Amino acid sequence: SGINFSKYDHIPVKVSGIDPPAAFQKFEDAKLRDIIAANVTKSGYKLATPIQKVAIPVITAGRDLMACAQTGSGKTASFLLPILTKLLDDATDLEIGKPQAVIVSPTRELAIQIYHEARKFSYESYLKISILYGGTSVKYQNESIMMGCHVLIGTPGRLLDFVERAFITFDDTRFLVMDEADRMLDMGFSESMRKIVNHCTMRAEHQTLMFSATFPEEIQRMAGEFLNNYVFVTIGVVG
Ligand code: ADP
Ligand code: MG
Repeated sequence: SGINFSKYDHIPVKVSGIDPPAAFQKFEDAKLRDIIAANVTKSGYKLATPIQKVAIPVITAGRDLMACAQTGSGKTASFLLPILTKLLDDATDLEIGKPQAVIVSPTRELAIQIYHEARKFSYESYLKISILYGGTSVKYQNESIMMGCHVLIGTPGRLLDFVERAFITFDDTRFLVMDEADRMLDMGFSESMRKIVNHCTMRAEHQTLMFSATFPEEIQRMAGEFLNNYVFVTIGVVG
């Protein structure tokens, strides 16, 4: 893979928040479902990256998370693996138009990458993964949504469009991930992010997870606003 693990040897890992769960060292200790762990192995992942070691236990423990780590540090698996595991652990029936996990991504390209990773890690499980993004026909994407999905990945505008058209609701959404939060901000999506968060509060037990490569003031404010009793993780120096 493209990950240079030795470059992380001297990068400081900072964790704050009330009672942060302990990091693991090896994937075998990550408490992943067998089927998910098998797919991790099939993907050729041998060592966990620093963000994976810290973030996976936080998500597994049911906590909200604000995680900052540079691009290419393995943030996608750090949220997908525990979410897929938890969805399999206490599966609820698939309901059309009611995704149990929603992953928000700034661009179509990034959404497609996350989609492929989610497909790879959930391979041979019954979990259904769908994707929504702008620039293609709403009708075509709605046909795919009508098949039902546990995990929905999408860009902010198209996700909100589907909520506003009542094609989907976030009433059963247990996991909301804001990936590349700093980029979403730069692209002018802060109001859309806020709206999505506000649509995701129906379930008493829900987790909100924010990922970012940098930690500008506006992201700090959003973390304070969107997250509850969250664990804050930074890998390396961010600003
Ligand atoms: P980020 O979201 O932090 O920019 P990605 O999640 O896109 O990083 O990961 C970057 C690349 O590293 C991807 O190709 C991914 O498959 C790979 N990767 C992630 N974690 C590991 C790992 N533990 N071992 C090997 N490769 C990994
Ligand atoms: Mg990423």
